[in-house]
Amino acid sequence: MKKIGVLTSGGDSPGMNPAIRAVVRKAIYHNVEVYGIYGGYSGLICGNIKKLELGSVGDIIHRGGTMLQSARCPEFKTTGGQQKGIEQLKAHGIEGLVVIGGDGSYRGAKALTELGYPCVGVPGTIDNDIPGTDMTIGFDTALNTVIDAIDKIRDTATSHERTFIIEVMGRDAGDIALWAGLAGGAETILIPEENYNMDEIADRLRKGQERGKKHSIIVVAEGVCSGGEFAKQLKDATNLDTRVSVLGHIQRGGSPSAADRVLASRLGARAVELLIEGKGGRAVGVENNKLVDYDIIDALAKKHTLDLELFNLSKELSI
Ligand code: ADP
Repeated sequence: MKKIGVLTSGGDSPGMNPAIRAVVRKAIYHNVEVYGIYGGYSGLICGNIKKLELGSVGDIIHRGGTMLQSARCPEFKTTGGQQKGIEQLKAHGIEGLVVIGGDGSYRGAKALTELGYPCVGVPGTIDNDIPGTDMTIGFDTALNTVIDAIDKIRDTATSHERTFIIEVMGRDAGDIALWAGLAGGAETILIPEENYNMDEIADRLRKGQERGKKHSIIVVAEGVCSGGEFAKQLKDATNLDTRVSVLGHIQRGGSPSAADRVLASRLGARAVELLIEGKGGRAVGVENNKLVDYDIIDALAKKHTLDLELFNLSKELSI
């Protein structure tokens, strides 16, 4: 393989830039030309493709977002859109593609693979919801952002003896809520994977108050309900007044953490190795700190599972 392409797609995540850098530098190291596809699958369909040099990815390792821009592209869900994408790649002489993104982006890469075009998926999403990897690129940075916010809110919660509800991202996966809630010492964590019991939550809050606890922090993943909705339910059940903070898009931005930069560098470089070895239709990941790769079709058939042990631990530690 002498020419490869790279694109970022779906929701951006901090660490996409170091992943792009790794793809470009690793490929050039092996005398393979790299083309950047700008604007995800939309850019692919309309041929927004430019050659990248070593210097094109200089000074991006520490930047959030993605220098290649990202997009959502409904047309790419159609075979017609996918075929247009393959025509563009072939017109540029590009023989393989690295797709950095979440599960939607993986579905696009899977579709290209099924049409006979070699693609390798790199897990870039803050949600940590891609099967076959212990961590996705961006998750660690997002966690650190959420913890920073929890710590700050805790100062106010303590000063005013208040209960705060913090709504974090995670429509289907509760990983951000769980990990940040555990690391931030939240009293209660609500995740989409587990039903909650309002009586149990009310009891926990009451016992804490009786012990002289000055504040409570409740972390809610957006997939459970909005922070406002939960505040209403809690008020109805306990008559407790709360304050709600919705963290929103700050969770996606910011300079990637050291852990995300290292992960992105390893996974981006491995994706290039696979293409050079002629192995398309794969997705890369890290399991038990070892690089792994697996069939992208199998990967999508599996379901990401949340670490329930961690969830139970969070309950035990927040009594
Ligand atoms: P993420 O990759 O972060 O999960 P999305 O779910 O929005 O983000 O997916 C990003 C893009 O991937 C979509 O806009 C679309 O272009 C492409 N995509 C998603 N699902 C499919 C699919 N089933 N087939 C082909 N392409 C898809």
